[in-house]
Amino acid sequence: MLQYIPNILFILILGVGIGYFTKNIRKVIRNIRLGKDVERSNNKKERFKNMLMIALGQSKMVRRPISGILHVVVYIGFIIINIEVLEIIIDGILGTHRIFAFLGGFYDFLIASFEVLALLVLVGVIIFWTRRNIIKLKRFWNPEMKGWPKNDGNLILYFEMILMTLFLVMNAADLQLQELGADHYSKAGAYPISQIISPLFNGMSELSLIILERTSWWLHIIGIIIFLNYLYFSKHLHILLAFPNTYYGDLNPKGELDNLEAVTNEVKLMMDPSADPFAAPVDDDQTEGEPEKFGASDVTDLNWVQLLNAYTCTECGRCTSECPANQTGKKLSPRKIMMDTRDRLKEVGDIIDKNGSFVPDGKELLNDYITPEELWACTSCNACVETCPVSISPLSIIIDMRRYLVMEQSAAPSDLNNMMSNIENNGAPWPFNQMDRLNWSDE
Ligand code: SF4
Ligand code: SF4
Repeated sequence: MLQYIPNILFILILGVGIGYFTKNIRKVIRNIRLGKDVERSNNKKERFKNMLMIALGQSKMVRRPISGILHVVVYIGFIIINIEVLEIIIDGILGTHRIFAFLGGFYDFLIASFEVLALLVLVGVIIFWTRRNIIKLKRFWNPEMKGWPKNDGNLILYFEMILMTLFLVMNAADLQLQELGADHYSKAGAYPISQIISPLFNGMSELSLIILERTSWWLHIIGIIIFLNYLYFSKHLHILLAFPNTYYGDLNPKGELDNLEAVTNEVKLMMDPSADPFAAPVDDDQTEGEPEKFGASDVTDLNWVQLLNAYTCTECGRCTSECPANQTGKKLSPRKIMMDTRDRLKEVGDIIDKNGSFVPDGKELLNDYITPEELWACTSCNACVETCPVSISPLSIIIDMRRYLVMEQSAAPSDLNNMMSNIENNGAPWPFNQMDRLNWSDE
């Protein structure tokens, strides 16, 4: 019975890890569903192609070659190496040693590739850390990156460094034990990188090597389970959400704004005096008798794709670095718009967890997180949307919040209010009577 204790312990740790992860992912899905409905089920072929190109192929990442190529190496390496987790899990449950060794030459090829990739990931992660902390690239030091976002960015790099090191140490100790002909450690795999490390362990007793190999093995798999659960609390949730986010991205030409259905109906009624005002379709989300709310002042006024965007944001800051408003010293940072939306959404989710349903907490996305000053600084140029490596649109949230300010609070900047009054009264943005519009040509 005693010999099965590690197997039972392993199954327990795995079960708790996967259970906690599943619980949190269900919360993420529930929170995203708090958003309003939006049609994104059309054109499945193009959506699938976008997902393959942008999320899997990282096509937008490599537009900035240094960080892009490094990210591709770390991403592919990390994902492929984790294929070995499958073997680790089966070994952990059954108590076997390298169960896929029966694949022979192919197994040697796999392990050798994993080792080379592990080294590349390690190098890539060290360069990423240097760019953040030594070179101090400006986009990682913007005001919204203080505190947790900064620590989160570094923590994940430390995680990856530790996991890759443990992987290589585990293999190097295993290789030594295989060469010593230790019990249970049958010959399997090829180890181009561990071969270089393993002489460090020359002279160690068989028992010490077994302790080193087992410790690395356990820490490696426990580290992966912790990493998996850490994703929920981190911007690294994008590892998973980049796929649905790129699939459900907006396929309309950039710059094309969606019309508010209620406003479109009003305009139609104005243009057709014989129309029945009571025949106007009512929004699905609208309760009968309840007036339509125009625009968004809180996360539940946004649609579910915008909320998915918020959870997917990698906080890379490419949008902010390309934003003309930010570049000219305005308060706006599109990355902060996404981070604020996610923080507020999590806050709303926590209130639901605590009370069973949402209880107003006197706070909103508007003003408590995002100020009108930020919203009106946007030129709606679309640079942030164009550059985002995972198809996020900070602009769509900005537009919806501005709609709320204009249509619900009449709180547009005075220049804009003057222009809209002029359009209403004069049919043009200028403060002249329509009859005087061509006066300029007399001069
Ligand atoms: S659309 Fe607005 S937020 Fe986005 S880059 Fe342009 S000015 Fe900045
Ligand atoms: S919105 Fe896109 S570009 Fe901007 S920080 Fe998030 S992932 Fe990066």
